[in-house]
Amino acid sequence: MNMLSATLSRVKPSATVSITAKAIELKAQGRDIIGLGAGEPDFDTPDHIKEAAIRAIREGRTKYTIPDGIGELKEAVAAKFARENGLSYATGEITVQSGGKQVLHTALMATLDPGDEVIIPAPYWVSYPGMVTIAGGTPVVIEGGIANGFRITPEQLEAAITPRTKWLIFNSPSNPTGAGYSPEELQALTEVLMRHPHVWLMSDDMYEHIAYPGFDFRSPAQLEPGLKDRTLTVNGVSKAYAMTGWRIGYAGGPEPLIRAMRTFITQSTSNPCSISQWAAVAALNGPQEFLGDFRAAFLRRRDLVVARLNAIPGIDCPVPEGAFYVYPSIAGLIGKTTARGTVITDDEAFATALLEETGVAVVFGAAFGLSPNFRISYATSDEVLEEACRRIADFCSGLS
Ligand code: GLU
Repeated sequence: MNMLSATLSRVKPSATVSITAKAIELKAQGRDIIGLGAGEPDFDTPDHIKEAAIRAIREGRTKYTIPDGIGELKEAVAAKFARENGLSYATGEITVQSGGKQVLHTALMATLDPGDEVIIPAPYWVSYPGMVTIAGGTPVVIEGGIANGFRITPEQLEAAITPRTKWLIFNSPSNPTGAGYSPEELQALTEVLMRHPHVWLMSDDMYEHIAYPGFDFRSPAQLEPGLKDRTLTVNGVSKAYAMTGWRIGYAGGPEPLIRAMRTFITQSTSNPCSISQWAAVAALNGPQEFLGDFRAAFLRRRDLVVARLNAIPGIDCPVPEGAFYVYPSIAGLIGKTTARGTVITDDEAFATALLEETGVAVVFGAAFGLSPNFRISYATSDEVLEEACRRIADFCSGLS
């Protein structure tokens, strides 16, 4: 269809969203599907947050709001940054939008011109390169290999920077690997950025609260205050508070950037859902203790999945520092044939055959820019994970 834009022809549909939709569709057809594709907590949104939303509806807070967030929520976000990250943002330096995804996209739309480069460490969240392309920029991918714990080195970052580099998109703990940079490793990267004042930093801190013992989360602008005036610190309530469907993400950054992002959304989506904003106020200002319970459940599930996968010959599953993903390598399975005769030529073939032959939905590594791997989101019950791992083990033992 030649009425589509040349830009969009270079963008693939999000693999995480597509695979999740496919799993739902197959389930609706009556297939026995275990969906480990979508990265979302299985916990229900806590009651005090739901109550705040119900109250907002009853009180008639159902109209347009300030396009980039109600004052109460910006204050709650500023308080969160101060309390948890030691970062001081005025409310004029805060934006609230429909999910972290929209915040990232808007920032890129507000800043990129054709030819501008954005450095993206791989494995990356599927949507980073697509968003850069849609915004007219050029993704420059550098690979954090499995041998370096899926982390990039300062030398790689230094080598990737050119006069056209506008942003580095940084994500720790990472989607899809769960890898986290220690304060020392992060500092080595911020030192590189300090030497290149034209490069901005987009830090996607979405998995901040899902950090396991031994991993010390720091937001880059907290660790290197000299970067704060060119850093966009992005976060949201989706993953921490089990609020994926409410679509509230936010960021703190320099006021001119925040203002430009506001201009963009006044011409696109306007404000995020008013009711969700009041729910997010309750999430950020309310009790935080349950986050520890969520974390403990995720830790138990991480250990379960890593142990089960590493017991399967041909699979190598590193232990992640955070988030609720594992990103095992299937290098040992490439070239084998499934019980139904499919050759595992690459990780996409593996994920497709796994879904077809066992009903387990995972996301193939090529979508995240590093193969041959696959991503499991283990934000689901222990019983479901046990069954999924049993099916993966059976599938692998049937390979010849
Ligand atoms: N961020 C989640 C994931 O990676 C949600 C789906 C998406 O928007 O990619 O699965």
